[in-house]
Amino acid sequence: MSNLKELDKKYIANTYNRFNLNIVKANGSLVYDENGKEYIDLGSGIGVTAFGFNDEAYKNAITEQLNLYQHTSNLYYTEPCVKLAELLCNKTGFKKVFFSNSGAESNECAIKVARKYAAEKRGSNCYKIITLINSFHGRTITTLAATGQDVFHKDFLPLTDGFINLPANDFESIKAQNKDEIAAIMLETIQGEGGVNPLNQEYLSAVYDYCNKNDILLIVDEVQTGNGRTGKLYSYEHFNIMPDIVSTAKGLGGGLPIGATLLGEKVENVLGFSDHGSTFGANPVCAAAALSIMSRIDKALLQEVNKKSEYIFNALKNCDGVLSLSGKGLMIGIETKKDAKIIVSELLEKGVLCLTAKTKLRLLPALNIPFKDLEKAIEIIKTCL
Ligand code: PLP
Repeated sequence: MSNLKELDKKYIANTYNRFNLNIVKANGSLVYDENGKEYIDLGSGIGVTAFGFNDEAYKNAITEQLNLYQHTSNLYYTEPCVKLAELLCNKTGFKKVFFSNSGAESNECAIKVARKYAAEKRGSNCYKIITLINSFHGRTITTLAATGQDVFHKDFLPLTDGFINLPANDFESIKAQNKDEIAAIMLETIQGEGGVNPLNQEYLSAVYDYCNKNDILLIVDEVQTGNGRTGKLYSYEHFNIMPDIVSTAKGLGGGLPIGATLLGEKVENVLGFSDHGSTFGANPVCAAAALSIMSRIDKALLQEVNKKSEYIFNALKNCDGVLSLSGKGLMIGIETKKDAKIIVSELLEKGVLCLTAKTKLRLLPALNIPFKDLEKAIEIIKTCL
């Protein structure tokens, strides 16, 4: 481990503050370090390994594709890509999909679609996109501009023009903008990196109506909240709204990189030949992985997610050291009396992997985490709170 740490420090850009853990193998929701110590994983690679590790169906889907071919480019047809798009559309009602490799890229595509739609339909002055303070949409220069957190902006100015960051749950601040210049409103229904903060229903209903009335596109960033994470397939379903565009990634590929931008009826044909592209987008191996994940996120699995969620909320709600709980499904924020960062370090010592989001503890376990592992982890969390 000490050698690995030195090499990491010497050869890898200094962007990550890693924990003192070298994972050498993993199974289900359990991971093991080089000394054989076992940890229960409640972070799932930041909401990615939807079905945990070493999952047979997932591995088979990937290896079957790998045995055929690993990559062809988007110059040719491939079955996993087309089948995945069909499945996503059939499950959601969206009309078309653009595939990329990450959350930031799925948002980039959403932004390009919104700009082109608005310019063609409403004029070239209509290009601004409203996003929310405390949001997180990615780390490219454009998705940083969308991200409403100055802390990520400061060393990289100037960012892409045309983003207005407004306070969450404040509809008046949206109405105060010149609507003729607003191409889209882009939001996370539950701000993930911002602290697991759900937007309120009244606000989302008002935003949805406002968008519909004024031909402003509603983009919902489901990179973290999507693919079963919140107990629905996509989190907008909790709020009785229907976005024009949904961006997603993370859990979609279960651990292989894939992003998707789902396009509704209004925008399904906005992108034309050569308007956008990606060498790796829906790479056949990643698409086969996502197909395996998406075909298993069904009613029964979502019921399980909600049962586990209820268990966690009940187990922690009256717990000493817990100030409040937030989130939905298996995306849970815990406001703690004690510093959440200290709790995460103590949990690591005690064999539980957990995340933070701003000042909160954040849980994003695998959707299929076995109940016995979850119960054990929650008991350990209680001892650290
Ligand atoms: N959008 C949201 C809501 C996210 O939570 C994240 C990552 O945490 C992103 C976008 C960026 O995703 P990626 O790191 O895959 O580019």
